[in-house]
Parts: sequence; C-alpha cells; structure tokens
Amino acid sequence: MKTATDNETMGPRAFTARRLWTLACGGQGVGPHGGEPLRGHVVLTEGGRVVSIVPQGEIPPGTEVVDLGDVDLAPGFVDVQVNGGGGALFNDTPTVEGIRVIAEAHRAFGTTSLLPTLITDGVQVIETARAAANAAVAEVPGVLGVHFEGPFLDERKTGAHDPDHVRNAGSADLDGMFRGAAGVTLVTAAANKLGDGVLEDIRRRGGIVCLGHCASTFDEASDAFGRGATGVTHLFNAMSSLGSRAPGLVGAAFASDSVFCGFIADGIHVAFGAARAAWKALGSDRMMLVTDAVQPVGTDMTEFSLGGQRVQVKDGACINEEGNLAGSALDMASAVRNAVKHMGVPLGCALAMASRTPATFLGMDAEVGCLVPGSRADMVALDSGGRVTAVIQGARAVTAC
Ligand SMILES: [Zn+2]
Repeated sequence: MKTATDNETMGPRAFTARRLWTLACGGQGVGPHGGEPLRGHVVLTEGGRVVSIVPQGEIPPGTEVVDLGDVDLAPGFVDVQVNGGGGALFNDTPTVEGIRVIAEAHRAFGTTSLLPTLITDGVQVIETARAAANAAVAEVPGVLGVHFEGPFLDERKTGAHDPDHVRNAGSADLDGMFRGAAGVTLVTAAANKLGDGVLEDIRRRGGIVCLGHCASTFDEASDAFGRGATGVTHLFNAMSSLGSRAPGLVGAAFASDSVFCGFIADGIHVAFGAARAAWKALGSDRMMLVTDAVQPVGTDMTEFSLGGQRVQVKDGACINEEGNLAGSALDMASAVRNAVKHMGVPLGCALAMASRTPATFLGMDAEVGCLVPGSRADMVALDSGGRVTAVIQGARAVTAC
C-alpha cells in the first residue's frame, strides 16, 4: 500500500495522453462548442498536485513519464450527489468505512471528488453522518464534505424520501448538520422550508443551498435564489416544472443568471430531449452531471433495500414497490457518454459538466475540476468509446482497467 509520503509516487511525474483536456477557466476553456483538447502536452505533477502543463518536449530531466496512451485525459469527475455505491448506502452505513466503500466504487468510473449524500432521516443519523463525513474528508481521498438532501423538503414532492421524517428546519437538525463541519456542507431543501431566516441561517453557518423536492412557484423559487440559494437538485425531478402560465422552479432556474443545476443523465429520470433543452438554456457552465446513485453502482445487484422498501434494478432503473424511481444506478462515466451520445453535447462540454462546473458550484475550482497549477492531480482517462481506462488520484494511478 503506497502512502502519501511515498517518494516514488510523490516525486515529479509527467502524465501524457493523445488528447488533454485541462478545462482551465480563462485558458483552455471549452466554450459552447466544446473546444479542442491539447495535443502533444503533458501534465507535470509533484507531491500529488499539478505543477504545470507543458509540451512533451519540455519534460524536465528526472521526471517519471506515465504514458496513458490513445485516450482523452481530463480532470477527475466531481459528483455532488452520491447516496451510495459498491453495495453501500450512506444512510445505512453513515461511517468512514461506508463512505470509503462508496468512494471507491465511484472512483472506478472516474469520480475523484464527491459529496456523500444523506437523504431524509432522523436527527441522530444526521449527526452520525456529519461526524463520519468530517473524518472522511481527512481519511478518504476525494471526499469534499457532505450533502444533506432533506429533511427540509416539500410534503408535496417527497419522492422516495420517507415522508414521516420530512420536517421543518429546527436548531437540533441544523446544529447536527454543521457540527465540527469539515469541507463543504450542501443542503437541499424546499423553498417553503427556507423561510423565517432558515436559508440565511444555513448560509451563515457556511452551507451551500440547493432547492429541491420542491413544489414552489416561480416567485417563491426566485425569492430563494435572491436570498442565497445557488443551486437546484436533480433538475426536473421532484419539483414544479415549467408551464406557460406556471413557470415553477424549473422556470426560475432557467430565468436565473447564475444558479447551477444538477441533473441525472440516465435517460430515465429525465428524457434526453428535456436534458438537451435544459443544456441549451443553461449551458455547460451551469449544468452539472450528478449520479444520485444508490447501492448498485459497481456491483451486479439486482435488488436492494432503500429506507425499508425493496427496490429492483430493471434495465438500469431503480424501481421501488410502488413503481417509483428510487435513486439511480448511474455512474459518472456513463453520464458523460450519455450527454455526448444522447444529448448531442460536445465531449469538452460533457467533461466540464462532470468536473469543472460542479467544482465551481462548490467554490473549489482551484482545487479540483480543472488541471491547473496547484490543483489536485486528479485525472480520468477515457478511450474513444468513453470507457474509463485509468483513474489518477493525487498523481497516483488508483485504477487501471
Ligand atoms: Zn432526490
């Protein structure tokens, strides 16, 4: 087992590939048409960080060269909504080990940064999950913090969340969510649960707020955006949609100049046509690919339990006993492939939606999501079919398929 102090892995390395996407803002940005990758360039790393991007001919002597071959090399993926993977569900195993299992399952699909996501649960589970996430930020590579999806949701849009646990924000829940907070705290809540100073309280504690599981009107959603909510959780799903006379939360997101929208690009949660329409409205700088994955990712599970309900995996969809969607079996590499193949999104844009955009949303784009001097040397290599051939985390190859 190699450690962070291992000289061999932490010394100077040059990662080379046929095509390199740094996705650097202000530099090799992707623009609306996806941009072009760099060719004949390498990523120089040292101590687990990117030092610079240079032409192949300028590799300093004494540098170990890692040739990844005929691949697209891009920043490792950043997933802000991961409930489970590798057979584990964060709500059922709110421990460092549970988070480790989930992170490792997703790492095989190119995700090198993620927010373990707790769905609506009791206050004690929230406290336990927070403590586990705090420890995982230090101990599990790629864990950026935690995402609490609920319990402050709209009773009209609970989806697969346990309605018995959906409630108004109280100080016990908020204290539990932010106790000893390490890393990012993302809270998905409904607009009708964010009044009476709740949204401002979450922001004051350092939290980022997404609207989700929310039946609000356009005006209510716009008001929450005006007060500091900066994102939307799984756009289109479990929210008021865009109608001509009732523009809803989706309309408010489209009309906003700045909010970020996560969406589940599996073709099951959102038809690809709707996803493409949203992408045309919002652009790659405001659309984020998320998996919203539950247990099956990285396994061959056909059945599992979610909040006491039996869920079956059928044709890639997770369906509970009532016939409703209950999480996803999507991985990030598949989401990128789907965006390219089924939404008509250029590869550079799809890669940005899986890395730079969510990193920007979290305020962490100097750290992850782009390959720029000083950023973490987290990378994913994809073959021409969009399949992961290697994953590099902190300049170490953690997966080579
Ligand atoms: Zn949800």
